[in-house]
Order: sequence, then C-alpha cells, then structure tokens
Amino acid sequence: MIQKLKVLKGREKSLKLRHLWVFSGSLDMKNAVTSAWTELVDSDGNFLAYASVNPLSKIAARVWSFDADDAPDKEFFRKKIMSALNFRKTCGFEFDNIHGVRLINSEGDGLPGIIADDYAGVIVVQFLTSGAAAYREIISEILFENVPGAVAVYEKSDSAILEKEHLPCCDGLLSGKLPDQCIIEENGAKFEIDFVNGHKSGFYLDQRRNRDILSRYAAGKTVLNCFSYTGGFGVKAALAGAKFVTNIDSSAPALERSAENMALNGIAENCYEDIVGDVFSMLRKFRAEKRKFDFIILDPPKLVQGRGDLKRAAKAYKDMALVALHILNPGGILANFSCSRLMPKELFQKITFDAALDAGRNLRMIEFLEQDIDHAWNLNVPEGFYLKGHLLMAD
Ligand code: SAH
Repeated sequence: MIQKLKVLKGREKSLKLRHLWVFSGSLDMKNAVTSAWTELVDSDGNFLAYASVNPLSKIAARVWSFDADDAPDKEFFRKKIMSALNFRKTCGFEFDNIHGVRLINSEGDGLPGIIADDYAGVIVVQFLTSGAAAYREIISEILFENVPGAVAVYEKSDSAILEKEHLPCCDGLLSGKLPDQCIIEENGAKFEIDFVNGHKSGFYLDQRRNRDILSRYAAGKTVLNCFSYTGGFGVKAALAGAKFVTNIDSSAPALERSAENMALNGIAENCYEDIVGDVFSMLRKFRAEKRKFDFIILDPPKLVQGRGDLKRAAKAYKDMALVALHILNPGGILANFSCSRLMPKELFQKITFDAALDAGRNLRMIEFLEQDIDHAWNLNVPEGFYLKGHLLMAD
C-alpha cells in the first residue's frame, strides 16, 4: 500500500507551481514514515504528486512526478534519465571515454537527490536523499546500459548532505569495473580525477566553461588562483601562457593532485607554486609583503550554509574581494565567484561593488559567469541556480 500524505489546506500552492519541494510544515506529518514513493494528496484527498518522503528532513517531500499514472519502476527512471542525456546531447556534450560531463543534476533533471557525473566512462553517482538511495540499483543499471562508453558506475556519497538526511554513507562500485586511472580531457587540458578521495564527485565540472573563459585572459599574467583545489583554473591559465601561477588551497592532498595535473599537461615546475594555507591570511600576507598579481581568482567553497549565515558570509566575501583588490595590479583582472545558492545574484554584485568602493578601485564588468549548462536547473526549481561569478577589470 502506497503511503498517502496530506498537504495542508492552502499549502498546495508550490506544488501547483510545479516546485519539487514540500517542507514538513506544509504536510500533515502525524503518521508519516520514510518512503521512497508516497502519494501527496490535497485536503480533499485528490492526487497532487508522487514524492519521496523523509520525516527527518526539513524538505520532507521531494516530488518525482505530477502524473498519477506513473509508477516507481525501471521505465519511469529510464525515461527521466534518457531525457537528461538528451538535454546534454542537444547542448553539445559528448559521452565517451574522454570527457567529463554531469549526466544528472538532481532537481534540474526532475530527479531530486540524484547526481551522476561521467568521468571518461566512469560514472560517479550520488544519492543524497533516502528516496533517491532506494532506487540506487535501478539507476545504476540504467546508466550503465545507456551511457555510451560507460565502464563503471561508482557511488560516492556526500557525507555532509547525508548527515542532514540522517542517511548512512554508502560508497562503492555498483556496476562494471574501475580503470586503474581516470583522466578526462577538457578543452585542451587533462585532469586526473580522484573520485574516491576527492571533493564532491571528484572534480568541479560546474566551472568547466569558466575555466575556458578565464584562460582567454591569462597569457603573460601573474595569476593568483585562490581555493585552487586540484588546479582547474591554474592548469588552464598555465596552458594559455600565464607568466606564473600561484595556487592556494587549505588541502594538501588537493594541491598534490594539482601538481600532478600540472605535470600531466606538461607545465614546467618553475611556472607555478603551490601554497597550502588559508586564503584569507595569505591575501593579507601578500598585501603586507606588497606582492601584487595581474589576475586574481576567488572561488571559495559554499560560504552560506543556511539563511542565518548570509550576513556573516557577505562580510567574508567583501573582505576577500577588498584585500584581493589591494594586491591587484592596475589593469588587473578579478574573477570573483560565489557557489552559495543562498547568495542572491544582485547581492553578490553589491558586495563586490562595496569592496571596490572601499579599495578605491573602479571595476568594469567583462562578463557574468555561471555554472556550466550540464549543471542544468529547471525554471520550476530556481534554487538549482547556484554558481555566479563576475569577471572584472580594475583600473
Ligand atoms: N576552484 C576549484 C574549486 C574550489 S572548491 C576548481 O575549479 O576546481 C573550494 C576549495 O577551497 C577546496 O579545494 C577547499 O579545500 C578549499 N578551501 C576551503 N576553505 C579554504 C580556506 N580558508 N583557504 C584555502 N582554501 C580553502
């Protein structure tokens, strides 16, 4: 018997607008139990949607379908996944043993809690809700059967999100066989992906397009790549002819991988340096030393975790941009990113402007930057848009 859960009277609006989330306060949770496929009904008992339900999560229900005829079978998930693959194909992405592409982006593809990244045939999946986790075998099978070039499906959970959902971590091989090494090619660069130990599913594919855009401005410049992780922006800048690249990250293993990626791309060791440290203090240290750069990239981790964080995070973003502007040469370029979903685009621009005012620098917009298009977001869940950035030139 399918669990039926009542949406409280007057709280159906977001579902009518086809949003995929229902918060626990909008549901009659009295007898609700965790379930991968629950029928949401209005106060008169009429069908509204099918959803996965987790009473322990703030977003208690996440919609799978608004069609009463749908059932949680392989065909349902196959259709959704084929639509996600078709979207990428239409956008020009290739599935092969060479490139890296996000195949499924959770709500953006109508599959809440499900992420799948294809790294040269190794498909790394994340199941981030109890509902998504319940279908891990079906989803793994469909991906393995339908993604051209697939050699393995590997589950890599994100422990912080799973904790919020009160779910156990569950990493391991789901289908196929893992290759000894996993290297992707990205617009002329190569990156080795450590999906077992790396952040997220192993690499920040969402910055792919921005790596390309930024590299166009790197030739002949001294580049300060803050929050460099495994060297994405740094490798691309070096390949584009940067004079020198300084990578800073607090993670030593990430920087070791970054150096390996530099070598993989034939970048000589005297073209870059790696600093294990805290960006906020390193920027101040450079300012004290009067060391300057021609091009500064700020790509911090998510600084706004919850709504209550916004003020504190805004201060951190401003502080970082301000000190960066103090050490940016005249005519220098600043790439300033926020990957926080809860940081509004307009506010982020104001923060950067505020920093410019305090630094006494004029900033001209070269380009707005966003997550790459395989990180699809859907107009019915605008929360899927999270990565924003400004590429600016300072006088
Ligand atoms: N720019 C990277 C992604 C950055 S992710 C890319 O394109 O691949 C954020 C990175 O910031 C992580 O590698 C994390 O280790 C690092 N980090 C987090 N807090 C930091 C801090 N205070 N100082 C330096 N690095 C930090």
